[in-house]
Amino acid sequence: MHLSLLSSDPERLGLPSGSHLERLVHCRASHAMSMKARQLGQATHEDSEAAQQGTRIHETLHTGNLEELGPEERELAEDLRRQELDLLSEWKRDSTVQERREERFYLRREGHLFPIFTGQPDLVFSQGNRALIIDRKLGRRQVSAPSENWQLRAYAVLLAQADPGLEEITVAIQSPFFKYQPAIYGCEELDQFHRLILTVLASLSDPGEPMIGSWCTFCPGSMICPARSKERNQLAIPVQELPSGTDAARLLEMVARVEAVCDQIKAHYKAQLETDSSCVPGWRLQSSSRRWIPHPEQAFERLIEQFSVSEFLECTSVSVSELERAWASKNNVPTAQARVRFSRYMGDCIAEKRVAPSLRQTTNQHSI
Ligand code: SF4
Repeated sequence: MHLSLLSSDPERLGLPSGSHLERLVHCRASHAMSMKARQLGQATHEDSEAAQQGTRIHETLHTGNLEELGPEERELAEDLRRQELDLLSEWKRDSTVQERREERFYLRREGHLFPIFTGQPDLVFSQGNRALIIDRKLGRRQVSAPSENWQLRAYAVLLAQADPGLEEITVAIQSPFFKYQPAIYGCEELDQFHRLILTVLASLSDPGEPMIGSWCTFCPGSMICPARSKERNQLAIPVQELPSGTDAARLLEMVARVEAVCDQIKAHYKAQLETDSSCVPGWRLQSSSRRWIPHPEQAFERLIEQFSVSEFLECTSVSVSELERAWASKNNVPTAQARVRFSRYMGDCIAEKRVAPSLRQTTNQHSI
């Protein structure tokens, strides 16, 4: 194995990584299951639209060229950039800060050349024997707080191994949707996490049965996992009487996981049908076209002799969020205050209607 491969393609080497540690701690089998799913071309959650958006925003934050993003993504990126500056100015004690962006770190067993674990934090700042790790989360799903987040613990261990002079590592999560309190780890905690990571890695060759729980959400092996398959079968058994209380929470978690696998199965065959339209007998992709007017002013010019302004406007719809964004930017209103201030300014020009509530899980306490 050539050393240059390590920096170019850690996934292909099959190294477990920091972003998977939370799942590995709870389900050791997920590593082998993910590798097998990749070999079969049935890995899930690795190329979703949300993952692609995250990559786009991360990349532009790295290059600093936010112009490549659409208005909504640019707003998210600007928010994250502001949070980074705030966090850094609170954390640093003077202006001499060393910065590493998107650097990949590796963990090796003592005396061994090849790594057994890897991780790539978004941002690392260091100052003397202290460091700050920032991980950006762009999803709308709340993750574990930094004080109990295994991904951040993994990054802290990887950094401490790469830089043994560090005695204190602060870990923080930035998110446009949730606020997370940073956590500070000292040498003792880092040693403890290091030992646990080695124990988890040592058990991957004999991982036992897959263990279902909230950590399954982004598992690449979910389509081929026998435990998830068993769960789907359980759900197929007609439920005589729907349970209540904790059992209801458990059942809803199961329904959500089964739905997620079904979505992934559909996405898998959709991708296959895109390349070979006859590969699944009796199924085909059906597309429909959408029409829209990208430049309303041009359309109005075209119709000006037949339509008055109000007749034309009656046929248009205005995006409240886009108008609000434009208004906030014209009036230098911070994003966090834009909604309230714009609503107050517009008064009854904005209509509001409650939409049907959707089911949302708030905690994962009832995982099997
Ligand atoms: S889907 Fe869940 S239970 Fe199955 S391997 Fe992945 S994490 Fe484990």
